[in-house]
Amino acid sequence: MQEGVYCRRCSRQIKTKDNLVVAGVLFVMVPYHKECFAKELRGPAVLFINNQPINSWVGNLLTLLGLLLFAGVLLFVEGLAKWLSLLFLLPVIYRLLAYYLFERRLSGKYNTDNY
Ligand SMILES: [Zn+2]
Repeated sequence: MQEGVYCRRCSRQIKTKDNLVVAGVLFVMVPYHKECFAKELRGPAVLFINNQPINSWVGNLLTLLGLLLFAGVLLFVEGLAKWLSLLFLLPVIYRLLAYYLFERRLSGKYNTDNY
């Protein structure tokens, strides 16, 4: 039996990927319900939350961009600057962690929980 994913705001279980928002809060990844994330953005916590969810299409785009930049720098830059390419792997690692920690534990796409 797999451990569930619980919303940080309301502490209820998040049951589907569709309803999951993984947000970056001070470099820590935190799971929210879609609705709870929207509420959180209206509260004081907005100061600490990166309002771009990691598991959104923008997050996926940044991941892809990170991979391309990583490969580009690795291939075309000489010397010590090559190490800079590792910086571009950060969004990729972030995205993979979000998947590993939360998304893979949830089933299907469609909402069955009414929250
Ligand atoms: Zn919630």
